[in-house]
Amino acid sequence: MSVAAQLTEMKQAIQEACRTCERNPEDIRIIAVTKYVSIERTIEALEAGISDLGENRREEFLNKYESIGERATWHFIGSLQSRKVKDVIHQIDYLHSLDRKSLAKEVQKRAERTLPCFVQVNVSGEESKQGLPPDEVERFIESLQAYDKIHVVGLMTMAPHVEHEEELRAVFRKLRALRDIIRDKNMPHAPCEHLSMGMSNDFAIAIEEGATHIRVGTSLVG
Ligand SMILES: *Cc1c(COP(=O)(O)O)cnc(C)c1O
Repeated sequence: MSVAAQLTEMKQAIQEACRTCERNPEDIRIIAVTKYVSIERTIEALEAGISDLGENRREEFLNKYESIGERATWHFIGSLQSRKVKDVIHQIDYLHSLDRKSLAKEVQKRAERTLPCFVQVNVSGEESKQGLPPDEVERFIESLQAYDKIHVVGLMTMAPHVEHEEELRAVFRKLRALRDIIRDKNMPHAPCEHLSMGMSNDFAIAIEEGATHIRVGTSLVG
């Protein structure tokens, strides 16, 4: 299917989810995750009206950036080794995977402008998942105050594969509750208003639970 057709379907699903929870669809940012697809398919997505692209690997990101450049808003959504920060920091618009002090230090050292970041949280506690345990997030974000190149705009999580929808909702709710606590502290370096959560299989549920940024690959550009 064309990206345009898949985008139409996705927008309908987003509207439906927004109706259920009385939200405005315009408050949901769609990030097309293009990590599995070619440059041609990525350009097709831009032509279909998508403006935000997500990549999770340095090489693939740089490859696409070379062709597409500033025509897109770039979200780096994968785990990032500190030594690779310098390769992507000047090109990306958002980092969704800030999860440790050493990475923050490297961003601070290399960035030439303030980078909007999401702090990645491992809500479910699965060992295979990146991210900070929920009980460390508040202190971590407070500790970033001195890092003037980092602006914490929200929290991000990857939901686990679970059997029951309620388990999934519980993960999203927990991230939202954590976001509320941090946002309500009104820290100038960490407005923390956003929630990056929801992928192809669970974006509708994530929206019902408050997602502001959904990261969708397979069901949009796949
Ligand atoms: C691959 C990926 C996605 C998109 O996954 P789909 O299931 O294809 O929608 C979202 N977020 C992250 C961090 C990813 O690595």
